[in-house]
Amino acid sequence: MPAPLVLGLVLAAVLPTAAGGADLSARQALAREIYEELVEIDTTHSTGDTTRAAEAIEARLRAAGLASPDIAVLGPSDKRKNLVARLRGDGSEPPLLLLAHLDVVEAKREDWSVEPFELLERDGFFYGRGTADDKAMAAIWSELFVELARTRAPLRRDLILALTADEEGGRENGVDWLLRHQRPLVDAALVINEGGGGHMRGGRYLLHAVQAAEKTYADFELSVRDKGGHSSRPTALNPIYSLADALGRIGRFRFPVELNEVTRAYLARAAGVETEGTAAAMLALASDPTDAAAAERLSQQPSYNAQLRTTCTATRVEAGHANNALPQLARAVVNCRILPGHSADEVKGQLAELAADERVEIVQLDPEFSAPAPPARVDPALLAVVERLTAELWPGVPVVPTMGAGATDSRYFRRAGIAAYGVSGLFHDIDDVRAHGRDERLGVKQFYEGQAFLGRLVAALAGAPGA
Ligand SMILES: [Zn+2]
Repeated sequence: MPAPLVLGLVLAAVLPTAAGGADLSARQALAREIYEELVEIDTTHSTGDTTRAAEAIEARLRAAGLASPDIAVLGPSDKRKNLVARLRGDGSEPPLLLLAHLDVVEAKREDWSVEPFELLERDGFFYGRGTADDKAMAAIWSELFVELARTRAPLRRDLILALTADEEGGRENGVDWLLRHQRPLVDAALVINEGGGGHMRGGRYLLHAVQAAEKTYADFELSVRDKGGHSSRPTALNPIYSLADALGRIGRFRFPVELNEVTRAYLARAAGVETEGTAAAMLALASDPTDAAAAERLSQQPSYNAQLRTTCTATRVEAGHANNALPQLARAVVNCRILPGHSADEVKGQLAELAADERVEIVQLDPEFSAPAPPARVDPALLAVVERLTAELWPGVPVVPTMGAGATDSRYFRRAGIAAYGVSGLFHDIDDVRAHGRDERLGVKQFYEGQAFLGRLVAALAGAPGA
């Protein structure tokens, strides 16, 4: 098809800076170059390879002066390797680890309007799979490491860079593997990861989130069995009704409201960007977690409801084997998101109580993914640094601690007793979330602002010169 090629040539001719970035500093240009290199390496689970991406960054770091044993590409299998690199500090503070995952969610060319594995800069955005999740952060960390290695910047603490595999799925999660098999390489006092970042709406910067806690993911299968038979002679033991009754009770149940240090700070600080009634309820609940009216009002909004309590909801159901037969099996999956400080066993017990029927068997699926998260805490010293830098770069934008309702690799560090925070300085439009979706993108201005912020953050935390 010649037409797209011609169009491409025309675009290239009328937009000469589209690929170049004439006004960039040398460091911005290098970050962009690494970003492009990473986006163009397919790191999906199906056809991709994180090892190639890890080796691409390894080559740049070796060229900047890093050498073994301070740099290694390692992992459980050929295509799922991780990069770990270390810059040595004077040891006056314990190590700081900078984390990003290299793998990306699948992207089919036919679903996208642009090439998913090419970095395209157009109309103020970088397009491509991973531009938002999580190759911007991987590129920014990599450039910073190149710069600090090249200039042999003095540091108060070791800086560790970990670029890892299988965050988006797969059984070879890089952080989990490194903590289990190479703990000394990634042992740190503090981890900075994805999961935070700025929220904007219609170009207005609303808040800067610091992700300090996450809920725990857990799936439970509920099943009911019977001997079956001919549907012309129904019995009271039809498994579909037993399961439906149990699911109905689970669906009507609400776990109690429970605030922690993080969600309480979130409600108090995020109220400023909400509409009047919601803001009043947030402030009321933050100051009095027993305020039932405020909790009820916020519970009407799914995103706030998820912050206030453990949630469980049915996500799959299947039963029966023929239109004219009594079912022998009915089963459902109930997906739960559990507050920090609570266990999957506790939630399983609650589901059993609600099912109130011995015939309903409840089994937790993949329990190894559901180790409980420790209680949520916010490090005041880190928060103070993020607040100072946010005020410098985006005056008036509040810094807000958050609890993720999903999961990032921070959970493995937290479970291992290592404080991990989602902090990025990368702002995105909360009404236009494309991570994991089609035409994933990140604002060009927001990418370079994130680079400036993260450079200064590491400078503040480790004594390195800033971006
Ligand atoms: Zn991610």
